[in-house]
Amino acid sequence: MSRYIVESPDGPERGIRVTCEEHGESEEFPAGHAKAAFYCEFCGYEVEVALRDAHDWKDTGEMC
Ligand SMILES: [Zn+2]
Repeated sequence: MSRYIVESPDGPERGIRVTCEEHGESEEFPAGHAKAAFYCEFCGYEVEVALRDAHDWKDTGEMC
């Protein structure tokens, strides 16, 4: 199975980027989405990443 890299690029938008290391497929997701579904067509896998902003999390308390 391929490896997937989840990065949080520095920048004002605080989005994330998910990359399939083996195939070089990557997709960026802006902040504000609760979940990011990244699909690599070469792998045939879909990877779902939950986005949680640490600052928001502290402000709002516990969230499922
Ligand atoms: Zn792949």
